[in-house]
Formats: sequence, C-alpha cells, structure tokens
Amino acid sequence: MATTKKPVRKKNSTAKSNTIKLKFDTSWPYAPAPESKSAATIHKQYDLFINGEWQKPLSKKYFDTINPANEEKLSEVAEANEADVNRAVTAARTAYEQVWKKMPPKERAKYIFRIARMVQEKARELAIVETLNGGKPIRESRDFDVPTAANHFFYYAGWADKLEYAFPNRGTAPLGVAGQIIPWNFPLLMAAWKIAPALATGNTVVLKPAETTPLTALKLAEIIQEADLPPGVVNILTGAGATGAAIVNHPDINKIAFTGSTEVGKIIQRAIAGTNKRVTLELGGKAANIIFEDAPLDQAVEGVINGIFFNQGHVCCAGSRLYVQESVAKEVIRKLKDRMESLIVGDPLDKNTDIGAINSKQQLATIRKYISIGKKEGAEMYESSCPLPGKGFFCRPTLFTNVAQSNRIAKEEIFGPVLAIITFRTDDEVIEKANNSPYGLSAGVWTDKGSKIFNMTKRMRAGVVWANTFNKFDPASPFGGYKESGFGREGGLHGLLPYLELKG
Ligand code: NAP
Ligand code: MG
Repeated sequence: MATTKKPVRKKNSTAKSNTIKLKFDTSWPYAPAPESKSAATIHKQYDLFINGEWQKPLSKKYFDTINPANEEKLSEVAEANEADVNRAVTAARTAYEQVWKKMPPKERAKYIFRIARMVQEKARELAIVETLNGGKPIRESRDFDVPTAANHFFYYAGWADKLEYAFPNRGTAPLGVAGQIIPWNFPLLMAAWKIAPALATGNTVVLKPAETTPLTALKLAEIIQEADLPPGVVNILTGAGATGAAIVNHPDINKIAFTGSTEVGKIIQRAIAGTNKRVTLELGGKAANIIFEDAPLDQAVEGVINGIFFNQGHVCCAGSRLYVQESVAKEVIRKLKDRMESLIVGDPLDKNTDIGAINSKQQLATIRKYISIGKKEGAEMYESSCPLPGKGFFCRPTLFTNVAQSNRIAKEEIFGPVLAIITFRTDDEVIEKANNSPYGLSAGVWTDKGSKIFNMTKRMRAGVVWANTFNKFDPASPFGGYKESGFGREGGLHGLLPYLELKG
C-alpha cells in the first residue's frame, strides 16, 4: 500500500524537550524497515593486510572507527606508519617481480573475476558494513555501491587478457607498484575503481582507505585473502593523512592514484614533482545542473534531488549548483521544496531512509559553516522540516535561492546536502556561468531538445555531462575531471591507460 509520511516540523528536535511532540498528518507513516546488523561480522580489532596476512602494525597504534549515525565505536584499526608502508611496498614489489607480472593475463583475469563473484556473494554484509561505517542509506549501499563495485571487478577481469585489442598495434607493460589513496564517500566502490584496473594491467597495489571509513576495504582484504590472490599483490593499510603521505613519498612506488580533495591533490603533486612517479588525481567538484524551460520539470526535479541529496551530498560530482531558466524558476523551486518535504532523514540502516548520516562531526561542522556563510551572503535558505535523530551527525536537505554567482556557496565545494539555485535567461549566459568555476568534474542538462543537449555538452567544461538524468555510473564509461577537478580517467578503456606503459 502506498503511504506517504509527512512529518510536521518539530522545533529544535535535537534539544531535550518533552513538551513538543512529533505530529504526523492523517496519512500513514512508513513503519521502520531496518536491515539487520547481525548479518555482518565486524571484528573488535583489525591489523594491516600485508603480504596476504594480517600483520600487527610496527607503529603499535590503533584508532577507533565509529558509526556516524549514533557515534558508537564499531571497531579499532591499525595505524600504519612509515615502517609499515615500507613493509607493504616491499611485499608489493616482490609480488610484482616474482609472480604477478609473469603470470599469463588470462590467469590474472581469473583472480579478478573471483573477487567480483565474492563481492556479489557477500553483497549483503558489505552493504551493511558500508552503511554502518559511512552513514549512507542502506538502499544506496545495497543498490549502488556494492553492485557497482562488483561490476568494476567483472569489467576489468574482462580486459586483463585483451589489452592488445584495447590498444591495437601497441605493446603494453605494467608500471610496477601502485600506491592508491581513497576518500570516505564511496569506500568500497573507490577501492574497486582503483584495484581492478591496476590488477588487470599487471600492477601490484598498496591501498589506503580514508581514516573514517576503513571497514569495507578491510572486508575486501578478507575477500582477497579468501580468493587466494598471491600474497603481496594487494596490500591494504589503514591510517590517516600521514600514512597517505608515506605512500606518496615512498621511493619504490611507480604510480600514485589519488581520489580526494583538491587541497590534498595539490600537496601530492608537489610531493612527486621531480620523481618519475606517474599520477592520476580525481579531485573535487561543483557540478552545474541546468534546467531549461522546455524540460520535463517533474523528472528534472527528481534528478536534482537525486543529484544533490544522494549520499548526503557527499559526492564529488554532486549537482550542487542548480541553474534554472527564469521562466520556470518559480515552479521548479516550489516543486523542489515539496519534494524535499517528503524526504526521510534518519537511521541509515532503515530501508525507508533517503538521507543518512553525515560522515563525520568535522564534515557536519563544515556543512554548517557553509550554511551560515550562505545566510550571511544574503541568500535565502530553505530547509526541509523533517525531524532529525537526537544522536549522530545529521543535516536536513537545504536549498538556497537568491544566490549570486560570486557567493561562496555557489563557488566552493560544500560536500553536503546543500543546493545553491541561480537563474538564467539564455544559453550563452548559462554556459558562461556554469563554466565559471575552478572545477569541471560533471554537469547535467535537462531539456526536451536533442540539439540543445549536444550544443551544451560540447561547450561545457566538465568530464561527464549527464542529459535528462544525473549520477549515472557504468564501469564501461570513463570518469574524471577538467581543471582543478584533476586529471586522468577511471573506468572504461581509458581507465587502463594510467596503469600501463604503451610501447611501439
Ligand atoms: P581528503 O581529505 O583529500 O582525503 C582523501 C584521502 O587522502 C584520505 O585517505 C586521506 O586520509 C588521504 N590524505 C590526507 N592527507 C594526505 C596527504 N598529505 N598525503 C596523502 N594522502 C593524504 O578527501 P576526503 O575529505 O576524504 O574526501 C572528500 C574529497 O574527495 C572531496 O573533495 C571530493 O570531491 C573528493 N572526491 C573526488 C572524487 C573524484 O572521483 N573526483 C571522488 C570522491 C571524492 P584521511 O582519511 O586520514 O584524511
Ligand atoms: Mg581528510
């Protein structure tokens, strides 16, 4: 039975008060449908995955990892120091020289295929762990993160023995040991994006997940061990920024693949300048989502909601700038506000939840800072009236109207569920405004006219332009940025290149 929940605003819902009660209108709210925590095993403590084994950190240090939805400790994980990084790089080098580069590509493919199958088999557990550790809704980790991660392994397993067809008339050779550093917004998926093409092309790997979301990468290490991948081919080191820096600066690493903030991307570029390390950087974004007056408006509104509120806005390609043609702006904003009211913010493990927890206290503070900057800059704020849980890090979906192109909320990456809306009149004007950004990762266009789509996609300086949809991913499509959004492509045939030397 279709039921819609329409919560009525509970003032200061986080404040302790027993006089204000939550009220619902006469329609029935959804009953909670929580996924079960018991379907996932999380150990009390995790060591480092080096040379196919779990090894105690030489640093002797561990740090807590929590559930951002209730701030409870989930586990503690090892903090790798320089000596630990050195052990992992040595293991990766030995595995590269003695086993992996010599192995016939079709044999390498079998391992990658096996990992893909095992990710599928353990999909439920991986989705639960991703949601517990990262705060994203279970619907998303179950339906997007985990299947897309498996698909990346399947896709690159397919390329491993077909590189001569990928690059006809060219010889290919692996680079050696790849150091891979990933962020907290798609922990398992980013690990798959990095590991799958590296293995398919014959490289070995030292990977560091983000400090706040290490658990699914460690689960992947368990899968890799169970898949019998030769020891040292993939090493997974947990730690903070210093661990990442130790990987970047290690002299025996041939390639750095980094996904994260533009700020850290610049530090990495400086660190490797003058060395012969290869590098790809997938950095921040401030995507423009453009609605023309001839667009199917309901569909566009749904796309905008998906584009910015999906994964709490913790998406590098989030459609955080909305450009609406002036003639339909009023209607679009009204529809957006209506739709925002129906979004459910809450327990990420509940299958009804649309918006889960913000990944960390620090990130929530950043988002709040930008919301107050937006208000101070004179933009008009609207936030959904949904109640928020009393514990954990949560943020209501928020939009700003009356935003100027020069406002910080329109220029800087917020990485949260905050949308800045700007109006426009002509195609030239919107192109100019959309391209006026230091970033260029992705963009969206909503219009009824195919010719307009082609005109816009040609003139937009963004790595991906979605037309009449948003946030769609496929392992066969390359992904990557322009300008300060980085360089190099991941995914597709293009995603093989950063791990190969082309010859002949
Ligand atoms: P971040 O702070 O740059 O961190 C990314 C990774 O780098 C983490 O593992 C981090 O460790 C590590 N790190 C920090 N300092 C380092 C250093 N000096 N040297 C080497 N590694 C270092 O980014 P984040 O806050 O985790 O993620 C959000 C950012 O990632 C956003 O800007 C977003 O746009 C971007 N992103 C881009 C893409 C893309 O494909 N273009 C995809 C996803 C995210 P800690 O965890 O300890 O900080
Ligand atoms: Mg960080």
